[in-house]
Amino acid sequence: MITPESNLDLEKLAGIRATVMGLGTFGGGAGAVEFLCRQGAHVTVTDLRDAGSLAGQLERLDRLPGHPITWRLGEHRDEDFSGADLVVVNPAVPSGSRWTAIAEAAGAKLTTEIGLFWDLCPARTIAVTGSNGKSTTTAMIHAILSASGQVAWLGGNIGGSLLGELRSISPDDWVVLELSSFQLEHLDRQQVAPDIAVVTNLSPNHLDRHKTLDAYRHAKQTILRWQTPEQACVLNDLDPDVSAWSFRGRRCGFGGGCRPDRVSGPGVHLVDVDPETAMVRMGETADEIPLGHWVVGPGHHNRLNAAAATAAALLAGARVEDVRSGLRGFDGLPHRLQLVGESGGRSFYDDSLATTPESVEVALASFDSPVVLLAGGYDKRVPLEDLARTIARGTRAAALMGETAGELERLLVEIGWDGPRRVCESFDEAFEWAMFQSRSGDNIVLSPGCASYDWFPSFRERGEEFARLARTAA
Ligand code: ADP
Repeated sequence: MITPESNLDLEKLAGIRATVMGLGTFGGGAGAVEFLCRQGAHVTVTDLRDAGSLAGQLERLDRLPGHPITWRLGEHRDEDFSGADLVVVNPAVPSGSRWTAIAEAAGAKLTTEIGLFWDLCPARTIAVTGSNGKSTTTAMIHAILSASGQVAWLGGNIGGSLLGELRSISPDDWVVLELSSFQLEHLDRQQVAPDIAVVTNLSPNHLDRHKTLDAYRHAKQTILRWQTPEQACVLNDLDPDVSAWSFRGRRCGFGGGCRPDRVSGPGVHLVDVDPETAMVRMGETADEIPLGHWVVGPGHHNRLNAAAATAAALLAGARVEDVRSGLRGFDGLPHRLQLVGESGGRSFYDDSLATTPESVEVALASFDSPVVLLAGGYDKRVPLEDLARTIARGTRAAALMGETAGELERLLVEIGWDGPRRVCESFDEAFEWAMFQSRSGDNIVLSPGCASYDWFPSFRERGEEFARLARTAA
C-alpha cells in the first residue's frame, strides 16, 4: 500500500494504479512508463499534447508487449488523478496545478521520474545543478569516476532514465545526476540529500515558471537543504550569489582568479599566476595540477566546469591521475561549443545549444583567433540588443539566419557596426557565406543565440546539419 509519505520500494508497485502526467519528449516520462509497466502497475499516461507531437515516445512504448497502457492524450481528466495511487508528474508541471491538487486530495503519492529513481536507488549520489554548465560538469564527473575504475551511472536532466537500470545499480556505485530547478522543486518534498552536491553558478533563468529570482534560487538550494554534516557540497567561490549560500555538509570551493596563497579552504581553484593551472587542496596537502591542459575544448567556462567536476570526483575517491585521464578522454557534449571539423586552416564549432545572448558571449570569449559567426533563428520575442552588441564586439563577420535575421541586421546598423554580414535565406546559404568570409586561422562558429524552431525541429538537427556541412567543406 502506498501512502503520500511512504518511501517507495520495488515490491510495492505491482498492481497499483499509476498516472504519468506529461510524457514529454526527453525520455524521462517514457522511462517512467516503461518501468512502472514492468513492475506490474496499471499505468495511465496523460498529456495535453496529442499523439502526433509525442510520436517518438509513443513508438518506443508501443514496443512494450503485454503491458496495456491507458492513453489519455490531448487532455487531462479528473478521474485519472482522483483514482490513482501514484502520480508521476513531469517536472515542467508547476506546483499548484489543479490536477496534482485533485490527486493529493484523494490521497495519492506525488512524485517525478527522478523522485521515483531517488526513492529506489541504492547507490551513492552526486547531484549537480546551476544555471549554466550542469550537463558538462555532470558528464565530466562521470568521465573521471569511470576512469578511476569505479562504477558510475549518468542520469537526471541530461536525458533518458536510469529507472530501467535499477536492478544493475549496487550500493557501492556512484550515480551522477544533473538536476534542473524544476526537478529540484519537486524533490524538496522528498527531502533528498545527495552525498555530494555541486552548484556551478546562478543567474536569472526560467523566471516564466518560477516567477521570481528568489523562488528560482530556493528551488536550486534544495540540493543543499537536506544534507547532513557527513555529506559534502562543492560551491562556486567566484559566483557572488552561490558563494553566499548556507550549507550543512562539508564545504569545498572551486573557482578562478585566486592567488595560490589565498586558496584557503579545500577545493580546486584555477590560479591567476597561470590560468591553466589549478591549486588542489583536499585534506592537509596542496598540489598544483595543469587542469587547463587536460580540458579538451575552448573556453574559461569549461575550465571552471572541470574545476567543479575535479573537486566532486576527488571527494568521491578519484585520484589526480584519474582526473587527467577522465578529462583528456572527455570530448565535450554535442552542440556545446563542440569542435566538429577542421579544414583549410579553419576550425568549425557547433554551439547550437546556445540560444541566449549570454551563451553566445561565453562562446565568443573562448576564442583567441577571429570568429565568423552563424547567428539568429526563431523569434522568442525577447530583446535582441545584447545579441547584436555581442556580435559587433566579438566577430569578424556574421551570417544572420531565420526569423530574427532582419531585426539583428537593423540593430547592427543602429549600433553602427560596419563588419561584413548577410541576411541569409537558408542554412546552406549562411554556411557558404561564412566559409567565403573566413580566412585560414579563423573559427566558424554556429552559436545562434536564438532557438531553432523556425528552420529546424530542434537545436540537435541544426547542429547536425552544421557538422555535416563542416565535413563536406573538407
Ligand atoms: P546546462 O546543462 O546548465 O544547460 P551545458 O553544460 O549544457 O549547461 O552548457 C550549455 C551552454 O552553457 C554551453 O554551450 C556554454 O555556452 C554555456 N556554459 C557552459 N558552462 C558554463 C559556465 N560554467 N558558465 C557560463 N556558461 C557556461
